Amino acid sequence: MSTAAAGVVSGQTGTRWIPVIGLEVHCQLDTRTKLFCGCEYSFGAEPNTITCPVCTAQPGALPVLNSAALEYAVRAALALNADVAPVSKFDRKNYFYCDLPKGYQISQFDLPYCTGGGIQLASGKFIRLTRIHMEEDAGKAIHDRGDATLVDLNRAGVPLIESVTEADMCSADEAHEYLTALKEIFQYIGVSDCDMEKGSLRCDVNVSVHPEGEPWRTKVEVKNLNSFRNVRASIQYEIARQIEAYETGDPAQYPEQETRLFDVAAGVTRTMRSKEDAHDYRYFPDPDLPLVTVDAVLIERQRGLLPELPVARRARYESELGLSAYDAGVMTAARDVADFFETVVRVGGDPKAAANWIANDVLRALSDPDVAASSILELLVKPNDLAELIALVGDGTVSKNAGREVLDEMLRSGARAKDVVQAMGLEQVQDTSQIDEWCRAALAGREATVADVRAGNLKAIGALMGPVMQASKGSADPQLVRAALLRIIGEEG
Ligand code: ZN
Ligand code: MN
Repeated sequence: MSTAAAGVVSGQTGTRWIPVIGLEVHCQLDTRTKLFCGCEYSFGAEPNTITCPVCTAQPGALPVLNSAALEYAVRAALALNADVAPVSKFDRKNYFYCDLPKGYQISQFDLPYCTGGGIQLASGKFIRLTRIHMEEDAGKAIHDRGDATLVDLNRAGVPLIESVTEADMCSADEAHEYLTALKEIFQYIGVSDCDMEKGSLRCDVNVSVHPEGEPWRTKVEVKNLNSFRNVRASIQYEIARQIEAYETGDPAQYPEQETRLFDVAAGVTRTMRSKEDAHDYRYFPDPDLPLVTVDAVLIERQRGLLPELPVARRARYESELGLSAYDAGVMTAARDVADFFETVVRVGGDPKAAANWIANDVLRALSDPDVAASSILELLVKPNDLAELIALVGDGTVSKNAGREVLDEMLRSGARAKDVVQAMGLEQVQDTSQIDEWCRAALAGREATVADVRAGNLKAIGALMGPVMQASKGSADPQLVRAALLRIIGEEG
């Protein structure tokens, strides 16, 4: 494994430290119903309104596996080139907490449904997955109501897949890149919205450091990270904290094997529980559930549902459509954006122009309250409309700046580009005699600037273009204006 070089951190004592990082990611599957009952989960519903005897653990209630959840889980495994086990098993993970009505979580222990696979980073380094297993989510305990703790069981029983990596990463950047890629893949294949704000993607990290060439040291877990920023910050904090502790040379201060939580406000991790009070989950097979079997038909059906994945799309946008690596990255970061971009191109939009408009103007509009859209699919501007606008700017009918105004109006009203251009009178004036007239008016009284241009300072032409564009109320074609100014100054010289 080539963890060295890239991840080396030099300590105060000059020691070269290698961080070792592994990730465990819980992802909520977007199935209609929960993992073992028919409750239809939806985020933000009134507490305890989406429950039934199964997910609230009433006596005699029996779980039945949601076949859609298994299908989604299998699709996730295939997208990560992992192996799907023909037979796997559900186990009970026993612990006591107020948000866990059964007193155990149904999870998979020694026979997960998926092993192997992984994600390749841009550097070429491959981050191996140890396994992915299915499990149910717990409910939510709410601690911020004075002395009381409230329990909402809506989330209890919601299907999760937990992806566990080998400790293959050696920096916060690598962990961030892996997470980004994992999230993109799950979103692309439609198994999870991976919305961290709704808690549908949650991350635990394992971090240790050791001097280069020496054996690995004690690993520390940081749990329940709910944003990419916190994942990055907590890893960076742990690496620095552990190195500092080792470099005291005092074994009493060395990191202990423990679980920590990230305090977002303070930017530090704090002990949650140490090894001594670590849980013994007393896993055993769930006697209420049969073994999970996955046959070739199920696998092939799910394989058939896999779309082109982000990495492949990115490569294609660069090689076939001529986008820069950066633009290809922006266009593929979310599947709806990639689909929108591809449609614009398919109906004739120039790819580079389309990428620019989408990256600079269309995506920005999503944060505009007047536009009132939460995704690119909800915008009133459809791919066809954008392609039309791109053509109008491309052939000089409107300037790029006027095009922005047109787009603003299109985003607000849903009107078509041509109609907006006409209604707003933004068509560029290409009539050279009209342009000449504006130019002559602008030149009058600006002899010093004219002399400057004549002396060879072509930059000074900019000071003359402003008044012309102003006189034309922005409708003059700037290229024609520039040419006219140079011609007239030349003639009069
Ligand atoms: Zn239920
Ligand atoms: Mn778990």
